[in-house]
Amino acid sequence: MFSQCTDAGDRVLGVSPFDELPAAREGVGTPLSGSEAALHRVFGFREFRPGQRAIVEHLVSGGDAFVLMPTGGGKSLCYQLPALIRPGTAVVVSPLISLMKDQVDALQAQGVAAAAFNSSLGPGEARETLARLRAGELDLLYVAPERVMADSFLGLLDELDIGLFAIDEAHCVSQWGHDFRPEYVQLGELRARFPGVPLVALTATADEQTREDVRLRLGLLDAPVFMAGFDRPNIRYLVVEKRRPFEQLRAFVSERAGLSGIVYCLSRKRVEEVAAKLRAAGVEAGAYHAGLAAEERVRVQEAFQHDRLQVVVATVAFGLGIDKPDVRFVVHYDMPKSIESYYQETGRAGRDGLPADALLLYSLADLVMARVLVEGGGNPEQIRIELHKLNAMVGFAETLGCRRRALLAYLGETLEKDCGNCDVCLDPPDTYDATEDAQKALSCVYRVGQRFGMAHVIDVLRGADTERMRSLGHDRLSTYGIGAHLGKDVWTSLFRQLIHRGYLRQDIAKYSVLTLTDRARPLLAGQEQLSLALPRFAVTAGEGGPEGDGRTYGSRSRRSRRGSPAVLFDGSIELDRDLFERLRMVRRRLADEQGVPAYVVFSDATLQEMAVLRPASLDALLAVNGVGEVKLERYGAPFLEELSRQ
Ligand code: ADP
Ligand code: ZN
Repeated sequence: MFSQCTDAGDRVLGVSPFDELPAAREGVGTPLSGSEAALHRVFGFREFRPGQRAIVEHLVSGGDAFVLMPTGGGKSLCYQLPALIRPGTAVVVSPLISLMKDQVDALQAQGVAAAAFNSSLGPGEARETLARLRAGELDLLYVAPERVMADSFLGLLDELDIGLFAIDEAHCVSQWGHDFRPEYVQLGELRARFPGVPLVALTATADEQTREDVRLRLGLLDAPVFMAGFDRPNIRYLVVEKRRPFEQLRAFVSERAGLSGIVYCLSRKRVEEVAAKLRAAGVEAGAYHAGLAAEERVRVQEAFQHDRLQVVVATVAFGLGIDKPDVRFVVHYDMPKSIESYYQETGRAGRDGLPADALLLYSLADLVMARVLVEGGGNPEQIRIELHKLNAMVGFAETLGCRRRALLAYLGETLEKDCGNCDVCLDPPDTYDATEDAQKALSCVYRVGQRFGMAHVIDVLRGADTERMRSLGHDRLSTYGIGAHLGKDVWTSLFRQLIHRGYLRQDIAKYSVLTLTDRARPLLAGQEQLSLALPRFAVTAGEGGPEGDGRTYGSRSRRSRRGSPAVLFDGSIELDRDLFERLRMVRRRLADEQGVPAYVVFSDATLQEMAVLRPASLDALLAVNGVGEVKLERYGAPFLEELSRQ
């Protein structure tokens, strides 16, 4: 899954020679490599995640690298370990002060000599940090790009022993990317100015154009590319027809009480509105968008990071700064404009590797609006590209096959089998013989002269008794009322499937008028049978409908597993939830005392392992994944005490 390659086309050349070889790792008595020893001792991790070892060893030996790893893959460790092992200080360029702060907090909690140098420091602090840097006391220094490139700072670095340059969120260097930062562009000069110092650029961008641009701009065209696959198996992809979006959202969130989540909306207005409604419904929710004052944005982000807000409702402006590992769900209240954005945004869920949900509320009305927006701006070439991206997104939302397969296929990866962890896999649609209904639909499109949109054609089929019908004379058509046996939603689903399968075309440029294609002929002539998916319904209580079962956001079946929240533990071993909750309280108390987010103390994954293994001594506690030596010393006792309670 992890590959290393050296040429420009991201061609996979095979598994890197450094990559995990089980024999070398597990042999009893095999001496630990330096990087492995540091992994255990400092981070308390039992083993490398896929790809980490190869990258770490390559950097330790002094090579440059370009690292592409999905969010949550564990990029930070790839430069943090070499920073500890190589002599000198590692300079880490990071785009946001909040990101630096989180990283530095987490490193310091592990006893690592790390500091940040940015505009948030007072003059005294800044002097002290520089003094520690000069004295060679720091293993890692996090710096904002504009600071690094200041002449005085570069001059200082010339005189010092620098062990490594790491450029985090490297896609910020590219104008093609979604987070372009003008300050990043100058970083290209680093490679030439410090020829002896290894340089690594790391990103999770799914966009190939951006990746190539980053390699070019940072002088890494000759450096090996380490690429991990894009799959995030712990994320469960769910797509639900958007009907009463707020009710659907509320039901979804209430099933996830106390779990962190992000809700993405398209407009600032919608963000404010949804956040206010959630608060009115008793959910601790904050709003985040670019129109808010900077202080307010910082406040919301910090409150989220520290679990004082359960949910942040946001526009896409809420992105870069979020490295909270325990985000358990991401909801798209409106449809994102491309698969790249969707992948990026859903990727913020479940960085810790524990199960997480990504819910997309999808409606045709949103699609039509998105099309109008795209078509209204930019040059023709841009419009063409954006329409293409939008169509791919629609294809994903409307697929009747495995979502993950559709998603990864778009990102250039093939999944060998269905994932078993998306709405379609968990709850495959039933099919029915739709031949006759489809014939009715197609002939009605024909009868109205292929000059009307879906809503009107459905009205004709269902025999709507309206003034418009009469004035158009459509109440006298032979197809008037022949579809009264089916509800509007069933017809809508059927039309949509006919469009996807190429029987009908929807002319977006002309008010979404439906026209027949050549494929429609044999079906209309009765020479073809057609089997379609039974629509999935999200029916609210009292609304009725073909399969009304009272669910608000979910599917047609009560038995369906996709309705239930992703459980925090994989279920293979019984987790004592009560104990887990008590450990979380201990963590909360320690985190509050130190003013750091809870996950800086220990991750959920670490607490769950504690609750399962119930270590009874410091030694046993050290064996838990995520407990390193310094954390053992700092936090070991209170956790042991809680574990010993009955
Ligand atoms: P990324 O920057 O790629 O999104 P992070 O560096 O934030 O990912 O890591 C994601 C999470 O995975 C963090 O909580 C980190 O502590 C954890 N992690 C990283 N490497 C390992 C490992 N080898 N074993 C266990 N957990 C790890
Ligand atoms: Zn699937």
